[in-house]
Order: sequence, then structure tokens, then C-alpha cells
Amino acid sequence: MLLKFWGTRGSIPAPIRPDEVEQKVVSALTLAGQQNVDLTNPDNIATFVKSLALNATTVGGNTTCITFEIGGKLFIFDAGSGIRELGQYLMSAPDEKTKQWGFNRGKGHAYLFFTHTHWDHVQGLPFFNPIHVPGNVFDVYHVHDHVPQSLARQMEAAFFPLQFDQIGATLNFHRLDEGERIKVENVVISNIELKHPGKAYAYRLEADNAVAIVATDSEYQSLDNVDTLKYRNFYANADVLIFDAMFSVRESFVKEDWGHSSALIGADMASEANVKRLLLFHHDPTSSDAEIAQILSETEEYLERQGKFLEVIIAREGLELELTNPTIISDFYIKDQLKNDVIYITVSGKFGGQATERFRKHLAHSLNSHGSDKVILNMKGVTEMQMAGIRALVDARRNVMSLALVDIPENVYRVIELSGTTDFFAIYDDEETALTAFNSH
Ligand SMILES: [Zn+2]
Ligand SMILES: [Zn+2]
Repeated sequence: MLLKFWGTRGSIPAPIRPDEVEQKVVSALTLAGQQNVDLTNPDNIATFVKSLALNATTVGGNTTCITFEIGGKLFIFDAGSGIRELGQYLMSAPDEKTKQWGFNRGKGHAYLFFTHTHWDHVQGLPFFNPIHVPGNVFDVYHVHDHVPQSLARQMEAAFFPLQFDQIGATLNFHRLDEGERIKVENVVISNIELKHPGKAYAYRLEADNAVAIVATDSEYQSLDNVDTLKYRNFYANADVLIFDAMFSVRESFVKEDWGHSSALIGADMASEANVKRLLLFHHDPTSSDAEIAQILSETEEYLERQGKFLEVIIAREGLELELTNPTIISDFYIKDQLKNDVIYITVSGKFGGQATERFRKHLAHSLNSHGSDKVILNMKGVTEMQMAGIRALVDARRNVMSLALVDIPENVYRVIELSGTTDFFAIYDDEETALTAFNSH
């Protein structure tokens, strides 16, 4: 199951402004100067730019559109302005897969689901070129009765030059009942009503041993267990929860009945429902990339303070996630950051046989992408250490020139002692002490 985002903004498209681009260039070049990045080497520059994350790139400005590729079939969720980009991609057929799909030859077939018909979820459809190619077929699923009429209304002559009944492709509409569970190809899809003006519907997709939830445009007014239970049940054990994180918590309390939620409420909902990855989605058009990055770091801090180890990701245009990846693990969490040529890796949760492959891959990737082989491994959040974890650390020493273990909880340290390997590692109380030791060598 391959998930891809084509538009992640809510309400209205919010393209990045020229002054924002300028600001990104200025801050990137300033940082490159401070870090003495070799600006004559394109590979070094690319690595450096990647490490800047949202300081150098953007979540994008298009409104909601998400696709899943499952068993070679294309499932589209919502038709905000992001669907125009999807259309360009399908029509230009740049790879084997899209050539085979044949949307540019009138041979294409896809499933299109609507959460609801607010502008930001339908406005891209008239500009989705594959619907203008005779021969293409779209099976359109919706819960609201009025979806076909609403799609037609936005293409009335007063709003658009071409009318809905002049569309070249065939659109087959399928109305779903609230709570209905259907099987489309190999995918089991169910829905639940969300609290939103005029209602919106969340979809749960199950296929390829993976579960994905699209739950955008929803407000959770009462956070009492009895009221959130139906949502938590619907989101339970998902690999990804795509969540309406448009507001801050404060706004979600003040703007009651506006129908949107926040990242921190999503964090609670996801961790209570045992979700593996929380995707922050439906960004406010007025939020800058820096503000969205700030929301992410606050959400991570919030979870960390609760002792929860759930991965949180900002949904941005172009982001792809393969959900059948066996290395997605709910009880082990790893992230890294490059500061002054040292890679800081934080691991949390249960460090056992379920986590080692992911640890190895992540370590190899960060050594590669950051171009440093000095690693400070912060183990503060490790709740359980097993021999497989020790083995992975012992192996890591071989690939890393300087590896320091810091902030090791007492129980974890005792396990390292029991394994008789304490002398294999450079162990320090905290990150500063380790850094001083690195610098004195
Ligand atoms: Zn919306
Ligand atoms: Zn809406």
C-alpha cells in the first residue's frame, strides 16, 4: 500500500509567497556559511539542503488530495487543488506504471472517494485532466446524497466554461451508507461520520496487512472517553492516521463548531488507539512552514512527556509512505538530527528484536545522508532493552567512528552490565559530556 500526498492544505490553496522563498534562501545560505558547507560540491549541497527539512522546502499550497496504490490499482481521496498535479502526472505517464494505467490513452480506471464537498475537497476536479479523456472510468464513492449534484453545481456555466455533463470520462457514482463496510478490489473500506459542518466522513482502508485512516475535517468537542470511544475504535491499530491538525488546541476550544481539530488532540487519539504513525494534515492556509514545523516539535515533546513513542509526520506535497514496510513498529521510536557535524540519535521504547532492523537501517541512512560518523545516541526513552538491542549496538560500533551512549536509564544500564558489554561502549551521563569527550580527542 503506497500512500502519497498531492495536497495537504485546508480551506483554500495557499501557494508559497516570493518573500517566503527569499527568506528560505537567506536562512539556508546563512546556515551553510556557519557550518562551512562546501558549496562547490552539488552532493554536499543536496545533503545539507535535505537536513534543513521545512526550512528549505514547504508543505505545499494545494488543498486536499491523497492517493493510495494498492495491488496495482489507484484509490484517490478528495479532489482539492492537489488533484490537478495528480492529473498532470497521470497524463504525462512518465513511468512504466502510469503508461500501463493509460489515463492519457483513455484506458485509465481509478476509484475516487469523497469525505465531503467543501470547496477545498472538490475544487480541483474540473482541472483534473484525466476526467476529460473519453474512455477513462472513475468509480466515485460518497456518503452524502448530494455529491453528484454538488460536483455538477461547481461546473455550472457561471463558474466554469465546461459543464459537468460534458465531461469525457465515465463517472459511476456509488452512494455508501453511513458505517457501511465494502470490499473494492482487495481493499476493505469502512466509514464513520465525523463532526463537521454538514458532516464529513472518515475512511478506513485495510489491505496488504496494513491499515490506513483518512480522517480529515473533524472536530472532537468532548474529549471524554465515552465520546471518543467510537473514533478510537475506528482508528484502532492503524499504520497511519491522517488527521485534521488545522487548529491549535486553544483554537479548537475557542472556534467551537468550526469543525476542525489539533495535532495534540490527534496525538492523544492516536496513542490511545495504538496508531503507529500520526500524519498532521489539513494545514491552515495562514500557517507558515516554520509554524507547521513548530507544531510538529511541540507534538513530539508532548508525546515524549507522556512517555509515548509514536511517530508524528507532517503531511506535505510529494510525501510517499510505503505502508507494507515491515520495519514500521509501534513500540520503538528513532529520530536523528545533525548539529555541528555530530549526529544526535534518540531511541525510545522497547529495544528488542522487533526494532533492530529499523535501528540498523536508520543508522546507515543517517550516516550516509549527514556525512558524519560521530554519533551521540540518547537512550533516555528506552523502556526495555533486550539482547537483540545490545547486539545491534555492538554492531553499530563497527560502522561508527565515534559512538557515545548517553542518558541511559538505570534498568537499561543494568541490562548492559548483565550482558557483560559495558566496556564495549563509550558511556556518558549526558550529551554535553559526550560532546566534550569527542572534541578533546
Ligand atoms: Zn477541509
Ligand atoms: Zn470541510
